[in-house]
Amino acid sequence: MEITLESIQQLKKEKNAVILAHNYTLPEVQDAADYVGDSLGLSRKAAETEAEIIVFCGVSFMGETAKILNPDKKVLIPEPRAGCSMASMCTASQVRELKKHYPDAAVVAYVNTTADVKAEADICCTSSNSVKATSSLEEKDIIFVPDMNLAAYTARKLPEKNIIPFHGYCSAHHGITAWQIEDLKMLHPGADIVSHPECASEVLDISDYIGSTEKMIDHVRESSKSEFIIATEVGMLYRLAKARPDSRFYFPPNALCQTMKMTDLRLIYRALTEGKAEVVLDPEISRRARIPVERMLSLR
Ligand code: SF4
Repeated sequence: MEITLESIQQLKKEKNAVILAHNYTLPEVQDAADYVGDSLGLSRKAAETEAEIIVFCGVSFMGETAKILNPDKKVLIPEPRAGCSMASMCTASQVRELKKHYPDAAVVAYVNTTADVKAEADICCTSSNSVKATSSLEEKDIIFVPDMNLAAYTARKLPEKNIIPFHGYCSAHHGITAWQIEDLKMLHPGADIVSHPECASEVLDISDYIGSTEKMIDHVRESSKSEFIIATEVGMLYRLAKARPDSRFYFPPNALCQTMKMTDLRLIYRALTEGKAEVVLDPEISRRARIPVERMLSLR
């Protein structure tokens, strides 16, 4: 049987489901979604939805965040094996060790973490609000997990804080090098360099604009330029090209997150028909993790 966008829309109505998809997912998945966005936008949508079922297309920590915010709803991840290499680098016991070592420090957990790690945090953040979330804490010492690049970016913006980074990274962003970007700039000298804060400092240092995926789209939409070198995952091309069909976008060739591409229409259809795979969290972990996630969402 051919699975079409129409058959997904029909099923979604019958089941009272909402489909949320990250900016890095396949174009067909973005077309099937009710909302496509970055982690912050997706968390807000997950918190607001009236639907009975949330189908989360992205990676597993995103489905967990939706479940943390909606403990009484059914949250489905069409491809439960789609993990995040960065999230898997940091465990709750490692965070507890850091807390023992720095007893006066508060903990900021990037949303790209498991529910157990979030449960150890004082506040969560995304790449669009890491500075705001960190500066909202009274403590000077901040344990920042798991992304060392986002930690470094946040530390630069907040010299008054003593940021203690965990040494995790995103394999898709950390692999982007300054020389790759400089090569692209040589080929396209008029292009703006637009980077995600998960990139290493050497890339951010030569960027014209730094922001989350959603902020990148806003920047490109409003820019007077028509050529852009984009230092983030290549799935962004679909939304960028829609936002600025008159423009050209150049990506480093290795900026690819394989797990973001694992979800397709067939798996969304199966999730809706068979109710697979449901996110199940330990209720106590979920209760504790909800506190830092809601604290982040209350930031304006
Ligand atoms: S792009 Fe990086 S941070 Fe995002 S899901 Fe993939 S590995 Fe994780």
